[in-house]
Amino acid sequence: MENWRLSHVTKCYNCGKIIDQIIEIYPSQSFVKCANCNATRYYIIKKADIEDERTIKEELTTKRKYDNWILQKDVTCHSCEIFGPQDILITENGIYVRCRNCGFTRYYRYHMQDSNRES
Ligand SMILES: [Zn+2]
Ligand SMILES: [Zn+2]
Repeated sequence: MENWRLSHVTKCYNCGKIIDQIIEIYPSQSFVKCANCNATRYYIIKKADIEDERTIKEELTTKRKYDNWILQKDVTCHSCEIFGPQDILITENGIYVRCRNCGFTRYYRYHMQDSNRES
């Protein structure tokens, strides 16, 4: 799996500005970093397995303090090797990346937050 870099424009939980939040996804960890204040949330891989799409749907409809983000990226799946959409769900508790073809899902659990990270 190559490293992915995505961005999502939303209100930063730390500085309050509506600006790009940079999402970096690696095989063993993920980061969400504010382009303005550099506040960073760290997530660590917890599980990688075939999951039913309900897993993501249930997470998506769970109400939390912060909005859940749903993104998508077309890549070659690490598991089924088919090029197609991967659904990426980001919540304050974790990050899910799921192949729409085979259901292979990586789950990263929220680890910590650093509000004063130097860039
Ligand atoms: Zn910020
Ligand atoms: Zn797949």
